[in-house]
Amino acid sequence: NHVPNRKPEWLKIKLNTNENYTELKKLMRNKELHTVCEEAKCPNIHECWGERRTATFMILGDVCTRACRFCAVKTGLPTETDLEEPKRVAESVKAMNLKHVVITAVARDDLNDGGAFIFAETIREIRKSSPLTSIEVLPSDLGGNIESLKLLMDAKPDILNHNIETVRRLSDRVRSKAKYDQSLKFLYNAKQFQPSVPTKSSIMIGLGETTEEIIEAMTDLRVHDVDILTIGQYLQPTKKHLSVEKYYHPNEFTELKKTAFEKGFKHCEAGPLVRSSYHADEQVEAAAKN
Ligand code: SF4
Ligand code: SF4
Repeated sequence: NHVPNRKPEWLKIKLNTNENYTELKKLMRNKELHTVCEEAKCPNIHECWGERRTATFMILGDVCTRACRFCAVKTGLPTETDLEEPKRVAESVKAMNLKHVVITAVARDDLNDGGAFIFAETIREIRKSSPLTSIEVLPSDLGGNIESLKLLMDAKPDILNHNIETVRRLSDRVRSKAKYDQSLKFLYNAKQFQPSVPTKSSIMIGLGETTEEIIEAMTDLRVHDVDILTIGQYLQPTKKHLSVEKYYHPNEFTELKKTAFEKGFKHCEAGPLVRSSYHADEQVEAAAKN
């Protein structure tokens, strides 16, 4: 059993700091906002913030009630909810002149609605001040509460994204609390509430899944009417997290992408550095055309 301990060439990327990026970092601190781009040390940050004008905000605090084994977010009892946060996110979206924004959040199992109200308010505030910005939301399963999902979908995001993260067999080991079937149902129900809003999901590969299992996950997502799929390489955030079982070659990602289109996804991004929100602006356009 060969466990790779060195990153292959295609995962070694150079970071360059440009002025725009430094300015934006300052803005985040001033507004007391969190972005996944920074917290997850995302390798695409310069491309996204600088050239593509897209970013992923993490609302509802930076402490999660869950502890998934691939995720670097802090676990614990979250602080109170900040009712002014939707406005501050909207101000930043405007200041950054974003074309596309992704709003995600830690899982807030301590709140009755899982944070759905704050999500909905954030969508409404961004619409008011940046009507041309497309808005993608990436919530947890909101505790599987259908009323909370409806509250969120009533605010009409441009894309509803919810990640199944991994294949069925590995779900219990990789994710904390979230269940594979519950996530599929969540995606399906979102489509029922707002049939015109495209749904999207992501999987990380490299956790020990087989190709057959990846294809099975694709089938499951299509059965639940999911439109967009992203597939990326899992990278271990710290030594305490699950280790990488395999680094997929870029050609293998190309093959998976081909399969995804054959399965009927309207759009698919697949590649070593692909993240749930990577090139998300193109995904909105592709989904709208279909
Ligand atoms: Fe941020 Fe997503 Fe881009 Fe990474 S891929 S920098 S998390 S928007
Ligand atoms: Fe990380 Fe989300 Fe899991 Fe919380 S629910 S630990 S934020 S992946």
